[in-house]
Amino acid sequence: MSSPPVADFIAREARFGARNYEPLGVVLSRGEGVFVWDTQGNRYLDCLSAYSALNQGHCHPKILAAMVEQASRLTLTSRAFHNDQLAPFYEEIAELTGSHKVLPMNSGAEAVESAIKSVRKWGYEVKGVPEGQAEIIVCANNFHGRTLGIVGFSTDAATREHFGPFAPGFRIIPFGDLAALKEAITPNTVAFLVEPIQGEAGVIIPPAGYFAGVRALCTAHEVMLILDEIQTGLGRTGKLLAEQHEGIEADVTLLGKALSGGFYPVSAVLSNNEVLGTLKPGQHGSTFGGNPLACAVARAALRVLVEEGMIENASVQGERFLQGLRSIRANTVREVRGRGLMLAVELNPEAGRARRYCEALQLEGILAKDTHEHTIRFAPPLVITSDQVDWALERIAATLTVDLT
Ligand SMILES: *Cc1c(COP(=O)(O)O)cnc(C)c1O
Repeated sequence: MSSPPVADFIAREARFGARNYEPLGVVLSRGEGVFVWDTQGNRYLDCLSAYSALNQGHCHPKILAAMVEQASRLTLTSRAFHNDQLAPFYEEIAELTGSHKVLPMNSGAEAVESAIKSVRKWGYEVKGVPEGQAEIIVCANNFHGRTLGIVGFSTDAATREHFGPFAPGFRIIPFGDLAALKEAITPNTVAFLVEPIQGEAGVIIPPAGYFAGVRALCTAHEVMLILDEIQTGLGRTGKLLAEQHEGIEADVTLLGKALSGGFYPVSAVLSNNEVLGTLKPGQHGSTFGGNPLACAVARAALRVLVEEGMIENASVQGERFLQGLRSIRANTVREVRGRGLMLAVELNPEAGRARRYCEALQLEGILAKDTHEHTIRFAPPLVITSDQVDWALERIAATLTVDLT
């Protein structure tokens, strides 16, 4: 039986759904590894990986098996009772990341919100900041999620406009600017919240040595360094955590997205004992946070990431992909950036909107996402092979080579 036409799905979505996204005109119905298929049976190489939630690839069989097994046994207890998946999840993620304390949540934004609450509480109860005066420093062009608390310190107009009033207590400085951080720190600063590489901003990599300097400043001024590794973490940049490229350790690390391999919303705040130790019973929570299904899925997602060598593969294939993109000689390309399999091509403004090229890539069997008008991101699942990288590069090169005259 043939599927209804693509336009039919899209029209029905448009009729009933809030229009808060502008998807490419493709309707997907199946995924496996690096590939997805649309309702018409066309195959695509997924170069977005649901914004890095699918590092382990689509429908990884071992994560699927863990999910099905757990779903048929026990899905939700609430934290009013213990469950037999939470303790092993805590142990395994703490051991893997070298953390002392874990707070399980669901979405990435919730992890960010939870970290903000925790560091404020730490500021008042441990650092001795006067009540109501805690300050958190963040960076321009940040992306930390979509809740009210978070969009209040966004610098993107579309993200903020007409959603206020917003919560006070945030100071915005340029990303990659150590002098600005030093300048912004006051005795009331409790934390610096930052992405190791700014993903949504277009894969912006800070200058070498920046994070070593950040670490030193935060330590010297008793400021908690919160690294939002929701996108950069779990192998995406070729290391388990992007902080490892910088030779530093955050005080608080935020994970989400690939923590479930794309099966389920699972996020976590990881920290030393001091910060999460301030939370006492009744002071924070989530009905679904730490549920047995989420824990079983996350345990499997972490296990396959490590056991199947996906992190090393991200490093190797990322380098191949980066060099391949850099060797494209096309006047549409202004700059190529990337670390591991977190890559971006910034187009010359004369080349037109990046969206146009994503639509052209779709016809070539590659799904990629534009960001900020002129940038195309490439972030395939970490299970991609050399042949698949080469296949993609050939099509990307052909698509970017257009006559601009
Ligand atoms: C996606 C993302 C978030 C928000 O995660 P959600 O699950 O969409 O709430 C936060 N920070 C970064 C860096 C992200 O990439």
